[in-house]
Amino acid sequence: MKKFKILAMLLCCFFVFGGCAEKREEAQEMLSKYSEEDLHEMTTFAMDTVMQFTLYNENGEQLLTDAEQEIRRLERLFSVTMEDSEIARLNEQSGLGEVSLSEDTLKVLKRGKEIGELTNQAFNITISPVVKAWGFTTDGEKHVPSQETLESLLPLTKIDDLKIDEHTLTAELLKKGMAVDLGGIAKGYTSDAVTTLLKEKGVTSGLIYLGGNISAIGTKPNGENWKVAIENPLDTNDYVGILEVQDCSVITSGGYQRYFEENGKRYHHIIDSNTGYPADKGLLSVTIISKDGTKADGLSTALFVMGLDEALDLWRNSDDFEAVFITDDGKAIATEGAAAFFTFEGRDNDFVYETVER
Ligand code: AMP
Ligand code: MG
Repeated sequence: MKKFKILAMLLCCFFVFGGCAEKREEAQEMLSKYSEEDLHEMTTFAMDTVMQFTLYNENGEQLLTDAEQEIRRLERLFSVTMEDSEIARLNEQSGLGEVSLSEDTLKVLKRGKEIGELTNQAFNITISPVVKAWGFTTDGEKHVPSQETLESLLPLTKIDDLKIDEHTLTAELLKKGMAVDLGGIAKGYTSDAVTTLLKEKGVTSGLIYLGGNISAIGTKPNGENWKVAIENPLDTNDYVGILEVQDCSVITSGGYQRYFEENGKRYHHIIDSNTGYPADKGLLSVTIISKDGTKADGLSTALFVMGLDEALDLWRNSDDFEAVFITDDGKAIATEGAAAFFTFEGRDNDFVYETVER
């Protein structure tokens, strides 16, 4: 609880620095320039992460309650750990037939499959049996699974064996032992849902932070862009630069966010479904900037798995996202669209800044 409180305090600043304590004073200075009359803030814990909302609106308190209720509603559908969630029911019924699901769950499953197709299955929502074998979604010990275990589980991670029927509102996992894990997309979907809800209720200025997934509504009340820092994956008290954004999502995936060590080696939570092992394609983090938060969340995970070259190929063939990559050989690389609103701040870290053209 203590850890939660400290984290919540760190997050309670106008900038989102992902826990960058030394910049809090600067953030407070910025805050004093604005009228606080309509500023409403809330911090809560859901979907296994700290969530923070900042919004400017005369009905702010009610809107924050509405936002929190929407998050709890979606969490009850998508959670892999809540026994009676829709995803838990779908997983339990694997190999046994179809399951009736809500529109939200079907929609997120469909988006998950689409992002899988777009990324050549680098994004794979049926990766769950392997993720569990590493201990990442269970409360038990995290450990390196045996090769035999991985080999027996990988055939259960074929996305084509997840069938969705939008007419009958059902889905089915064809093989016993298959399971869906929405950890790579649920927060992005939720941030889109909350953003839509708040905008429908008249919010024109706000920032939603769902543990590393940031969604900006409009601009700050004075018309300035929201400032979002990209963490330094090697030192989360530092950042490599700042994105100035409005009306879009900024979502980061990185092996530094969740990991364990065994025999002196680090193993993180983003799994390459070709090998069953944590993705190891030379990236420390991937940040995606897009109007579509669901896609940004799926792509941040997928591009991390794909590695820089394949990720840039996908970016060159797309027009709906920009990205910043931090590589394990010390580079911070922004796509040209991202570079237009990214300020690299490499003075305190070892990264060299580069941009890539389309
Ligand atoms: P994110 O933080 O959005 O990158 O999501 C990471 C989470 O997504 C992990 O904790 C797993 O629950 C899940 N996951 C791991 N590997 C993959 C993958 N290759 N495709 C989709 N989801 C994944
Ligand atoms: Mg993701």
